[in-house]
Amino acid sequence: MIGSLDPRHREATVIGAGISGLLVAYALKKRGFKIRVFDSSSRAGGLIETRTTAFGPAETAAHSLMVNDRGSSFFEELGIELAPVQPESKARYIYRKGKMRRFPLTFLETLHTLRSFFSKPAHPINPASASLADWARTYIGEPVLRNLLAPFVTGVYAATPEELLLSTAFPSLVPIDPRRSLFWNVLAARKKPGREKNRPKMMAPKDGMESVIHKLKDLIGPDLYLNHPIHELPDVPNLVVCVPPTDLAGLIEESDPDSANALRAVRASPLVTITAFARSVDFQNGPPRGVGVLIPRNEGLRILGVLFNSSSFPGRAHEPETVSMTVMLGGTTDPDAVNLDDEQITGLITRELGSLLGFQGTLLHREITRWPWAIPVYSQLLQDARLLLSKGFFSRPGRVLFTNYSKDVSIRGMIDSLRLFS
Ligand SMILES: Cc1cc2nc3c(=O)[nH]c(=O)nc-3n(C[C@H](O)[C@H](O)[C@H](O)COP(=O)(O)OP(=O)(O)OC[C@H]3O[C@@H](n4cnc5c(N)ncnc54)[C@H](O)[C@@H]3O)c2cc1C
Repeated sequence: MIGSLDPRHREATVIGAGISGLLVAYALKKRGFKIRVFDSSSRAGGLIETRTTAFGPAETAAHSLMVNDRGSSFFEELGIELAPVQPESKARYIYRKGKMRRFPLTFLETLHTLRSFFSKPAHPINPASASLADWARTYIGEPVLRNLLAPFVTGVYAATPEELLLSTAFPSLVPIDPRRSLFWNVLAARKKPGREKNRPKMMAPKDGMESVIHKLKDLIGPDLYLNHPIHELPDVPNLVVCVPPTDLAGLIEESDPDSANALRAVRASPLVTITAFARSVDFQNGPPRGVGVLIPRNEGLRILGVLFNSSSFPGRAHEPETVSMTVMLGGTTDPDAVNLDDEQITGLITRELGSLLGFQGTLLHREITRWPWAIPVYSQLLQDARLLLSKGFFSRPGRVLFTNYSKDVSIRGMIDSLRLFS
């Protein structure tokens, strides 16, 4: 989060009822704050929605999250049941040279990687300005960057390692001593106090992501005002802003024009998500098993990744012989994907699912969601905007920014940050 609450007051006004606004409103209400939450839309949840189809549920944005001990207690407190990835379906794949592979590097690339991992870098990075790609080239080598890291960050941020600022997107990777090897830095990081002991696990709410929204909405009760756009930020004792960058830019235009301009410069990746249902008999080599597959950009496919929903979590397809998948298109390298019409998208993914998974049929159903402004790019421009906001509009106690661009894009990160409100 950026800014701080004014401790003299026990009331707060929250603008935006996406997951970030609902989470913070719930945390403050629990602390005994009198709260009011406003959203311009007729429904709460923002990007998050679980649509019902005849074949199974379809998520429009987040479909799962990484859950650590804090997250686990949080969901228990809410009474939301989480499903872990099914034990027989934990495999994650990278598509390389025409095949889905659990380990995509060749023998020589693995040797190169090991040498980089244990060697002192010839030219250490400057942690404040290095991109994720600079870090990877310096400490782990090009093969890992191209074949593991790039598809992974495309799957999470829908952007390239070159665009992501290391200190903003992956602060835990910032080397403790940039002149030492990655091996040395990994060991040093393990000794740091406060390090999380248990690895977070990938989980999904049993009844879909929107069940979290419904639960939070119920707990907030009549203090949530939908269909209530805010055109001017009110001068109230505690103001918590939870809206996307362009909306915030409009709201602080007059009071903090420098931050407003910096926010407008922040780019976002456009994304198309398609929840596709298919018959399991239409997959030549059997239905897909595992969590999903990510595709490096040099493999000649437009699909960025596919999540195998019905394989990873229970209840994602109504019938056992139906397969549910979420296909992602777009990102900063293919922004035009959001302009494809439904027929073009269906043709494209049917063809490419053929190459990827041996799919040879017609999709039973597809639920398409286009997000022209999906995920903020965690770049230097975002870091510059954050700095201006913390010195500008949000410098006064009683003003807080809590969103998917103030610290973490993931819901796990937001839940972790709620401790700052307790
Ligand atoms: C395709 C996709 C897949 C994703 N997958 C995952 C995943 O698997 N796991 C994960 O952890 N995260 C994932 N994410 C990220 C996560 O879903 C988002 O970061 C999160 O939902 C953003 O929530 P938010 O509340 O910050 O913003 P939003 O959801 O954008 O909510 C902002 C709210 O503010 C309201 N608003 C805007 N302007 C005003 C105004 N002037 N007055 C009143 N209200 C206003 C809007 O109506 C909206 O409801 C994914 C995102 C996308 C797009």
